[in-house]
Amino acid sequence: MVAGPDVYICDQCIDDASGIVDLDDRQPAAMPVETPASRGWQQRMSPVDIKAALDEYVIGQDQAKKALSVAVYNHYKRINAIDDTSEFRDVELEKSNILLIGPTGTGKTLLARTLARILDVPFSISDATALTEAGYVGEDVESILAHLLHAADFDVERAQRGIIYIDEVDKVARKAENASITRDVSGEGVQQALLKILEGTVASVPPKGGRKHPEQSLINIDTSNILFICGGAFDGLNEVIARRVSQNAIGFTAGSSQKMDKFDPSIFQHVEPDDLLRFGLIPELVGRLPVVSALDHLSEDAMRGILREPKNALLKQYQKLFAMDGMELHFNEGAIEAIVEKAKALNTGARGLRAVLEDTMLDIMFDIHSKSNIARCIITRETVLSKAEPTFEPQRATA
Ligand code: ADP
Repeated sequence: MVAGPDVYICDQCIDDASGIVDLDDRQPAAMPVETPASRGWQQRMSPVDIKAALDEYVIGQDQAKKALSVAVYNHYKRINAIDDTSEFRDVELEKSNILLIGPTGTGKTLLARTLARILDVPFSISDATALTEAGYVGEDVESILAHLLHAADFDVERAQRGIIYIDEVDKVARKAENASITRDVSGEGVQQALLKILEGTVASVPPKGGRKHPEQSLINIDTSNILFICGGAFDGLNEVIARRVSQNAIGFTAGSSQKMDKFDPSIFQHVEPDDLLRFGLIPELVGRLPVVSALDHLSEDAMRGILREPKNALLKQYQKLFAMDGMELHFNEGAIEAIVEKAKALNTGARGLRAVLEDTMLDIMFDIHSKSNIARCIITRETVLSKAEPTFEPQRATA
């Protein structure tokens, strides 16, 4: 026993207490963690490097890749501008959050995810439609940050340099012009809440997310260096753009007699902030998403590329599965064409490719082990279209 003025403490308790003090010292928030990725990587990676790395995983979408590469390069430059001693040290670089517009299944999420992988920063995906204003049933905006914190293994410093992808922002657009008069829970309120974290705030985040655990202590996260990438299909925005362009064309100020077809495949490339306002995003949110980039519908060529080319291309994945069983898997040209045709009809972009392949390969992978001596399995057009049996080549007898 160690005696104080009015108290006694035993040696065991001293040990325990000093252990607790040690533990507290090791809290991540108390000790800024500097990772090679959070500092210094930008000295190695130029926008060209970033795009080249994206090319390994994402087919096509060159415009979007370029816009992202530059935006991300500048974003991390901005973060590190704290050390700036140049004549521009008083110039504040604004944060460049990104809005990706494009049909479903064309690579919006994949682009954001791949960026995070290249940069080795934590990444999380949230869905804007799951959010509501605080006080209504649903997820709080803070839950978005909780997801990122989770992805960063609760390393606050790392989370604060991460990337968050918010899907389906188009679904929280104001529905109609008069929606601002009546309170619009699912739309404008969520946009307002999103705005706060997008522009940079210190948010108190319940580490487990949600309001179900009122007892948990909150963690403060500063969002000013988090890069937000928002995405959405923006169905109907094509009409807004076409109307604007055509109206300009008949006005007195028209420079050219341009008329735009709303089904023009490149129509989203012409999007302007005004179109987003008309679509139902609030001006403040549009202002916080200064980089807007459009993704194209995937051409048949791009679909073929997606099947074969990326590092983890779908066909390679099936081929690997077969190889692990000592068999070779081959898709002939007819099969590739048929997969692309069927996937196009599903109208879900590249997502359709996986669906068609799974459907084609299920029975084959189920039955193949009942056959013996197979060296090579060849998928043909008929296999894809009518589930005809693939061509099997037997193992050659070794002499
Ligand atoms: P969304 O645009 O709806 O966010 P995703 O990025 O989630 O689409 O794409 C769905 C799937 O399709 C991804 O898993 C990815 O494998 C594939 N995919 C979509 N677009 C591309 C692309 N341009 N290049 C390679 N794969 C793609």
